[in-house]
Amino acid sequence: MTKQVAHILGVPFTTHNFDETVADLTGRVERGVRTHVVTANPEIVMIARENTSFRTVLDQAYVVPDGIGIVYAAKWTNQPITERVTGVELLEALMAEADRHGWNVFLLGAAPDVVQLAAEKLGNRYPGARIVGYRDGYFRPEDEKQIVQEIAERQTQLLFVAMGAPKQDEWIARYRDQLGATLMMGVGGSFDVVSGKVKRAPLIWQKLHLEWLHRLLTMPSRWKRQLAIPRFVWTVLSEKWKSRS
Ligand code: UDP
Repeated sequence: MTKQVAHILGVPFTTHNFDETVADLTGRVERGVRTHVVTANPEIVMIARENTSFRTVLDQAYVVPDGIGIVYAAKWTNQPITERVTGVELLEALMAEADRHGWNVFLLGAAPDVVQLAAEKLGNRYPGARIVGYRDGYFRPEDEKQIVQEIAERQTQLLFVAMGAPKQDEWIARYRDQLGATLMMGVGGSFDVVSGKVKRAPLIWQKLHLEWLHRLLTMPSRWKRQLAIPRFVWTVLSEKWKSRS
């Protein structure tokens, strides 16, 4: 499957739908193609606009459209992105593939009790997957070398890093060649969801594409971060109008 891209404010997104993304990534793991997956939403795109080193991280990654804002932006600019590929859903789908293929999986990030519970739950649900290690995401810089070494020694095929964006993605990019992992992916708050600590929006909110509003209402402290959404919409539309005039 060739990797087609759509550019949203300069960030290269793959245009695969959810199932195609899972199939493509599964093929990459089976072939041993080292891949850094970033699930990017409007907030990430806005960070990349202002931060050139983070922009480089995205340029070298496999970026999937996480968030309805990205799908709309593609529509407004006549580019073929048809649906969202969210981090938590991609994590579950890749775990199902790990179950089928017996891949080694390492979980890094979130609070100690959260990652432990997430590892237990994923291990029970996907018994064919080998959870070769896990550790929380609150470590000191001096511990990093040892963590990277541990992941490399375990011959990790899937590495999920849950330390929030863009920190997790910068961390993966910094160590991608030393980690020895085949597929590395930042998954934000997914371990909190998998462990049951945080609930995702009810299905009806998800279907109405209002997950972002649910997050805002249940975690009001995020409102500042979510200001990126109207800024993103405005920037996409004004670039479109500029290119027309
Ligand atoms: N986290 C972490 N180390 C840190 C900061 C955050 O492991 O230094 C974890 C935090 O416990 C949570 C996740 O990273 O599980 C961040 O979740 P959030 O919903 O903020 O992710 P985002 O929306 O940025 O993708």
